[in-house]
Amino acid sequence: MQFCFLALESPLEDKSCCMLPPPFIRRMKSQLGPEYPDFEAALHTRPPVSVRWKSGLSMDHMASGFSPYTLEPVPWHPRGFYLSERPQFTLDPRLHAGAYYVQEAASMFLYQALTQHVDFSKPLKVLDLCAAPGGKTTLIADLIGPHSILVANEVVRARVNVLRENLEKWGTPNIAITCAEPEQYKFNLPNFFDLVVTDAPCSGEGLFRKDPNATKEWSVDQVTYCAGRQKLILESAYETLAPGGILVYSTCTYNYQENEENVQWLQEAKGMSLLSVKIDPAWGVEAHAGGYHFYPHKTRGEGFYLAILQKNTGVLTKRNVPNGFLSLKPLSKAQLPPVQRWLNADWPLRLFQIPSGEILALPAALEQAYLILDKAINRKWFGVYVGDVKGKDLIPAHPFALSPLVGSFNSIEVTREQALLFLKKEVFDFPPSTETGWTLVRYQGSNLGWIKVLPNRMNNYLPPERRIRMDLEKVIDLE
Ligand code: SAM
Repeated sequence: MQFCFLALESPLEDKSCCMLPPPFIRRMKSQLGPEYPDFEAALHTRPPVSVRWKSGLSMDHMASGFSPYTLEPVPWHPRGFYLSERPQFTLDPRLHAGAYYVQEAASMFLYQALTQHVDFSKPLKVLDLCAAPGGKTTLIADLIGPHSILVANEVVRARVNVLRENLEKWGTPNIAITCAEPEQYKFNLPNFFDLVVTDAPCSGEGLFRKDPNATKEWSVDQVTYCAGRQKLILESAYETLAPGGILVYSTCTYNYQENEENVQWLQEAKGMSLLSVKIDPAWGVEAHAGGYHFYPHKTRGEGFYLAILQKNTGVLTKRNVPNGFLSLKPLSKAQLPPVQRWLNADWPLRLFQIPSGEILALPAALEQAYLILDKAINRKWFGVYVGDVKGKDLIPAHPFALSPLVGSFNSIEVTREQALLFLKKEVFDFPPSTETGWTLVRYQGSNLGWIKVLPNRMNNYLPPERRIRMDLEKVIDLE
């Protein structure tokens, strides 16, 4: 019995993506000139599928795990790959272990902008202002060092859950999540961050091929509305940036009103300097007025725009560091031993408890930054949920299993079939010699979660909300 990947896509027969709004056609014709027919033809082709492999994770089994599909590198990201077909990602345990992120290739260009202009060996305060579902956040998370803090903000409450889930899978311990209007950053944390990434909500022209609904929602007024909203978001991004700090502005739309005109405003009204990104001409990226456009007839990806700027003004604000967290209580000496023995000693940590009893671990080096953020922003989630203390024991939590904070522990390496049963929250056969107790379930070198092995059975501790809901029988290859 074997689980197999099923390709989901067939050649584009649905041409609804090409029912382009006439004002959009007129504008793109004037923007692209003689290239316009190629652009429109590209919108009739299938969008490429791409993934970004997590840094630090061996790529040994990466390609074979996508078999029978073939992989080709995304030229502007060292760990980005195109897949020849779209697999059923839900059936790949590695996705659930956070081994890779399914990310549109053009978005991975952020890697070039950041690595060419930011020194990630330094301790940095980084804000991803429009973060859900977390594609750019996970890319940035792979660049920062353990002494940097990355804050992922998402203003729409309904989208915070998906952001939390994706970041939990990615496992980077020094990420804080907030749910705040950008203005909270502007007023409460001026001149604070070394890097702010603003992947702004936009009119979505770059998604017309992938999502036919995007064409229905598009209008000239919508473009104007988005451009105004972006300016307000950028105003906050600019204010929360420290003097000398770097701002990345990106959208997935083509028009100059939302892109070049906002970048021009940052230069003229805020005195920011545009920075250039070295690009290989073979990539097909179009440099225009200091920003970078991805058009689907020239680059292998969807529509995307990015500009990178530096702040030249502002004064470093001296801040009082609050004495303690609003709702986190440091663990008492008596509570420490049962928790400490579970932790990876490579990460100096501070341990806290929230009123509901959960134990959280925060990287010690970042405590001051967390304290400042705690006071400044109302809705936030910090640290890695390690577990709950019950008497002398710790009941380990799922996010802890996916983070590098977990120390060396009993683990079993499982097959794909066992991994999928685990992810269905079912039980699976395991060798009778397996030691009893808390055990990490691992698949191809990445942790999937916890089981508790008992003398004759196991308990599966995958949280119910993380369970795969797909009927696996339908995808079992019985040959
Ligand atoms: N950066 C994300 C990624 O790479 O996965 C995608 C971000 S998406 C293009 C823009 C995000 O901005 C959405 O999650 C949306 O909810 C959020 N947003 C919407 N209105 C906003 C506003 N007024 N201020 C800040 N963010 C907003």
